[in-house]
Amino acid sequence: MKLNNKVQLLILPVLVLSFLLTGIGLYIIERNSVYSLAQSSVANEATELSGSFAQYNLVALGFLSSIIQSDSLHRFLQTDDKQLKSLALSSGLDDILKNLETLSSDHFSIIFAQHDGKIEYYYENSLDPFAKPDLALLRWIETIREQRQTSARHYSQDLKKICLISTLNRITLEQINNFDSEDSLTIIVSLHPKDFLNRSTKLKQEGHSVVFYDKSQELQDASLLEARRIIPGLGTISVELDKSSIESDLWKILSKLGLSFIILAALTYFTLQRLLSKYVIDPINRLESQLSNIDLDGTQEITIHHSKDEIGNLSGTFARLYSKLKETYEVTKELAEKDSLTTLYNRRVFNLILEKLISRAELDNQQVALLYLDIDNFKFVNDNYGHAVGDELLKVFAFRLHEIVRGTDIVFNKKQDEDPTVARLAGDEFAVIIPSYTEKDTARKVSHRLLALCDNGFTCEAGTFPISLSIGLAAYPQDGQTAEELIVNADSAMYESKKRGKNTVSYYSKELSEFFRRQQAVEMALKSLNVHELELYYMPIVEAKTGTIKSVEALLRWFSKSLGSVSPAEFIPLAENIGTYHKIDLWVLEQAFRESQKLRDHYGESLKISINLSAAELSRTDFAEKLYFLVDKYQVLPSMFILEITETFYKAQDNSTSEISLLQDLNKIGFQLAIDDFGAGYTSLMQLVEFPISIVKLDRSFIEKTMMKGKETVLQSLVEFCHSQQLLVTAEGVETKEYSKKLQQTGCDYLQGFYYSEPLPSDKLMTELDTSNI
Ligand code: C2E
Ligand code: CA
Ligand code: CA
Repeated sequence: MKLNNKVQLLILPVLVLSFLLTGIGLYIIERNSVYSLAQSSVANEATELSGSFAQYNLVALGFLSSIIQSDSLHRFLQTDDKQLKSLALSSGLDDILKNLETLSSDHFSIIFAQHDGKIEYYYENSLDPFAKPDLALLRWIETIREQRQTSARHYSQDLKKICLISTLNRITLEQINNFDSEDSLTIIVSLHPKDFLNRSTKLKQEGHSVVFYDKSQELQDASLLEARRIIPGLGTISVELDKSSIESDLWKILSKLGLSFIILAALTYFTLQRLLSKYVIDPINRLESQLSNIDLDGTQEITIHHSKDEIGNLSGTFARLYSKLKETYEVTKELAEKDSLTTLYNRRVFNLILEKLISRAELDNQQVALLYLDIDNFKFVNDNYGHAVGDELLKVFAFRLHEIVRGTDIVFNKKQDEDPTVARLAGDEFAVIIPSYTEKDTARKVSHRLLALCDNGFTCEAGTFPISLSIGLAAYPQDGQTAEELIVNADSAMYESKKRGKNTVSYYSKELSEFFRRQQAVEMALKSLNVHELELYYMPIVEAKTGTIKSVEALLRWFSKSLGSVSPAEFIPLAENIGTYHKIDLWVLEQAFRESQKLRDHYGESLKISINLSAAELSRTDFAEKLYFLVDKYQVLPSMFILEITETFYKAQDNSTSEISLLQDLNKIGFQLAIDDFGAGYTSLMQLVEFPISIVKLDRSFIEKTMMKGKETVLQSLVEFCHSQQLLVTAEGVETKEYSKKLQQTGCDYLQGFYYSEPLPSDKLMTELDTSNI
């Protein structure tokens, strides 16, 4: 999860929880205070209301006692004249009322009733001269009388009046307990408590209920907030407030509180997030993106976040780590890409570069040339001067190679700003890639410059060494479509240079590729060679003086099922390379031993059979043992056989003593030894003397050269030299009568060639040449 999201996930629940808890706490406090406020306001109202009511009550009582004690009542009672009576009382009552006017009451009434209940006098403070007592008041008076009460107080909720009743003796004005006496006078005072009622109405409008209980009410309703006040003698006033009205207020408070908390939480959240982003997440993200974009090959550096906090430290540490990493990377890269001795690219990197250049050349329609270089005779330097000198030579050579290729004035396509690549592929093998060149001749020019590096040997501080270069050249796209193909083909061309005598450049060609393909096919077939596909042909070798067949040379024929007839000149060197030669040689020896008696029976017991041996055979320790085994098996006389050893063996400079002693052993048990193909290579006359041989076979090309250019004397001297060393001389490749005569004159002992006979199967040879005289 991204840091940003993680921070959000962390902040959000904490914020929500803390705001929720605070909100709930605040709400509870608020709720309690709302309730207690409402409760106390209800109590206040009840107190005020009951106070106001009590005042009216007191006024009514005061009014009643004022009347009772007033002179006007005396006068009223003592006067008989009805008119005077009322007048006297009314003016008295007005006076009393005036004294009481501090209290506002819009209705005030007095009734005087006789002992029989009949109304004797009625007064009210209204403008209506015909005003009559209220029916409900009369009904209440009736009820009181029925109950035989002479004194009572009552608040009538119907009339909305406080009513007082008192019964007096007309003469003594003492309070009495019955109405029956004719002297009884009942005074009923009623008062409308205006302020009290106004206040009640106001409270009701505000949602309160005001209830007046006549008797005390015990039960309280839980859904109400109420306050009760007792009005002694009258009842209880209760001010009530329905809790649901408070709840609805609280709900409003709750929603306002909730809304403001949500807004506050959101604001806090966004502020926190912005601050965290600015000071923590953004710097980390910047660092992270820098790190993820890091390319160790690139040149960019980490920008350090200069703050004195953990992020600043982190960024500093990363920058340090990065520079260390980069250093190590450079070293590792150098080690992985470069050859440690020459500091040129190694084979692995060379392959990658070549692949890359080829795919780019494919897009740009350009060419890539590959030069494959092998130093000729490097082994000679190593063996004779030691490895330290060899290494020094390689280093200097690599340096000059690099210099020549880079500093060349040959115009490369500089558009790509690409220099040629130089690599060391193995010991003394190097490669040069010339990328994206347009001039046709570029690769050839570069190769010749490279060849010139070794003109007159190679000189460095350690000395001058006889090395040269064999260069193979192949170019994309004509000589190969892939890096692998191009390498194989340039390598083939390089081998061609070796074959052509070294110190040269060979161009890869279709023919060359055909040749190598053929070689590969032959090698493949050799690996699974069936000896039944082999056959021995024989070629006669005649004595020069007499023309009689003295020996026959066994020559191998391979009739391959897959490839047809393959010449031994083609497959024997390959068999030596891949190791199949041993199997072939043993077969040849066995076949020659098997057929020798038949040939001897035909051409005479003195006929010798010449057998070609692979040079590699002589370095095998088990060869002699196997040869003796076959000699024993076929009961042949070794002296009847000549073993021909090809030049490749004795031209090698490091013939080991064991190989020479093997030749001596073979010689000792009777085998005659011949050096084959003398004059075609590097065999020195000294070697002719050193080795235990008895015959020298002069190569066909050597004979041809000496005969054609009239240098018979050279030939003659060589023959004489051989004779002086007790060596017999066989001339190969005699194709004409003329040659046979000339060679006879030079003193050659034996002659061999198509002039006498081509190699033939033994039976055919015996039928075609049925006598030993040709
Ligand atoms: P080599 O030992 O020098 O054999 C002589 C080759 O010269 C033979 O070729 C032969 O046919 C050819 N030749 C002889 N006289 C003439 C001539 O007058 N004109 C021409 N144009 N050619 C002539 P071949 O049989 O193709 O053998 C080639 C080489 O293969 C041999 O050269 C030898 O080095 C090798 N070879 C042949 N048979 C064997 C074998 O059984 N074992 C081994 N190890 N190598 C063999
Ligand atoms: Ca031979
Ligand atoms: Ca030969």
